[in-house]
Amino acid sequence: MKARPNVSIVIPLYNEEQLFELLIAKLNEVLSSVPFSVEVVLVDDGSDDNTPHLIEQLALSNNAYQALILSKNHGHQIAISAGLAHASATEAVMVIDADLQDPPEMLRDFYEKFKSGYDVVYGIRKSRKGSPLMKILYWIYYRVLDSISNIKLPLDVGDFCLMSRKVVDQLNNMPEQSRFIRGMRSWIGFKQVGIEYERQERVAGDSKYTFKKLFILAYNGIFNFSDYPIKLMMKLGLTSIVVSLAYLIFVLIKKYFVGDVPTGFTAMIFAIVLFSGVQLISLSIIGEYMIRIYKEVRNRPMFIVQSRILEGERCDENGIKE
Ligand code: UDP
Ligand code: MG
Repeated sequence: MKARPNVSIVIPLYNEEQLFELLIAKLNEVLSSVPFSVEVVLVDDGSDDNTPHLIEQLALSNNAYQALILSKNHGHQIAISAGLAHASATEAVMVIDADLQDPPEMLRDFYEKFKSGYDVVYGIRKSRKGSPLMKILYWIYYRVLDSISNIKLPLDVGDFCLMSRKVVDQLNNMPEQSRFIRGMRSWIGFKQVGIEYERQERVAGDSKYTFKKLFILAYNGIFNFSDYPIKLMMKLGLTSIVVSLAYLIFVLIKKYFVGDVPTGFTAMIFAIVLFSGVQLISLSIIGEYMIRIYKEVRNRPMFIVQSRILEGERCDENGIKE
């Protein structure tokens, strides 16, 4: 059996035959320029084109490449998760896109930072290329998510990163199905740091993220990491009740002192607003229980231990001395 490499690079590919050659050329360049051993895990995410064939051919002829062909298109986040589960590196795992938007040569900078004591080194996009509308949507999304989520999510950060073996093991241990890796990574904790970089244009082909896929990702980001939508329901319900009561008082005063209120109308509006409020509150109460059930079934670890000292000696989480 081959010795385990220091670093694995996980790359998800979906219909990327057009840029495959370019990607591999770039990777080979990076692989030969670093002073540690690297394995590349190429994950085919159910491509319809020649990508899986290209990946297999390469992996059969070059030991530095591992081929992982998924049974169908599972989506970017699952493809990365599959790659992470099969990365054999002893030290760290890097995640990059196939389209060279995230420069693979950043491996050196990432690794250096990692060696200086960080568990997660992620790329921060200095500028974003693409349509102005998408830029605005991204900008708003990350800020909204930041303000309503329960985790500290760095702004303008994607999945491009290097994670220590320890963090990857934790990620592999989180069985949740709807995955938002950048959020899970941040949730895990330990020492994390970002490095700014210029995000390039895609080298070939079109984006494989349809608007629908992007929307699902954005949606997962909010619902996996925020209870805010349910809390908002409670707030709306309470507001509705307060407004309906205020309205009732206003109309009653008007009725007895001015006296031009048509009969029946007041009661109807009052009832609609009041009972909408009651319904919203009832729904949000059910929601609160759902959140709790959701947290239980998601089965994330309750806590993650960074270090432990027992009887004057460093040990691992289970008390086994190093
Ligand atoms: N990708 C994937 N499965 C999908 C969609 C995309 O594995 O269902 C891969 C794709 O091949 C690329 C990476 O995920 O390596 C990022 O996709 P893309 O560059 O199309 O997204 P964008 O950069 O436009 O957001
Ligand atoms: Mg891309």
